[in-house]
Amino acid sequence: MSLRRFFIHPSDITGETAQLTGPEAHHLRTVLRLNSGDPITFFDGTGARYQARIERILKDRVTATILGQTRDLPPKARLHLGQALLKGQKMDFILQKATELGVDAISPFYSEHGIHKQPKDTQMDRWQRIVLEACKQCDRATPPEIHAPRELTELMAVPPPYDARLIFWEHETQQTLNEFLAGQSKDCRSVLFLLGPEGGFSEAEVACAQKNGFTPVSLGPRILRAETATLAATAILQFTLGNLDPVLPDDQEKSSCEPLSNG
Ligand code: SAM
Repeated sequence: MSLRRFFIHPSDITGETAQLTGPEAHHLRTVLRLNSGDPITFFDGTGARYQARIERILKDRVTATILGQTRDLPPKARLHLGQALLKGQKMDFILQKATELGVDAISPFYSEHGIHKQPKDTQMDRWQRIVLEACKQCDRATPPEIHAPRELTELMAVPPPYDARLIFWEHETQQTLNEFLAGQSKDCRSVLFLLGPEGGFSEAEVACAQKNGFTPVSLGPRILRAETATLAATAILQFTLGNLDPVLPDDQEKSSCEPLSNG
């Protein structure tokens, strides 16, 4: 039985004691009907993963003893997804899938043929919730960084140094992603990659990207839906850069810290 995973706010952990409240406590108590003594796992959204044991299940909260703590291993390469803002629920889908696939940071951007206006400010809170839910579901302790939407030119112009910068463009006919990645030295450790809106990148945007050191690459002859293209590009990059490799037993050692108590 896979361990049950719950999100807990860091301030609800004091020493070896955790107090789970609100919807998470309700889910544990009434939906999962767990009992005292059951093993559970907590995520605190800052990168810590706690192994714990339920002590008491009360009406308004659940207390647990923390037995140990582990953290995710750092990724072999850091992927920063630049995603044109998409309509409706598609952005939610992208955030969820990019989190599951291990993307390090996500920067939504405005684009000429896409969404120009600033989304509702509650958007960021909602995006954070989607990402934390995805972390809990996929057992990811360190959430990706979600940046506030900005102009594409801003995103292109001031990125920290990246080993590779890619713009996925359906009209690219020369450079295939395969060739590009084959040409990358093994130590490609950071990639900033851009995916366009439903309306596609404008020629001016592609030209500006090239001026800023981005290589246009193709995902083949078919025009993929925006969300399909992002999923495909992310999965291919993660696979090629080794971020979809299983964590080997001796690596697991490195990711686990000392148990907090014999419990
Ligand atoms: N409006 C464009 C058209 O009909 O020609 C389609 C844009 S597509 C729906 C949305 C985004 O997905 C594009 O901006 C691009 O970033 C990416 N994309 C889709 N198909 C692609 C392909 N074959 N190669 C590279 N990128 C692709």
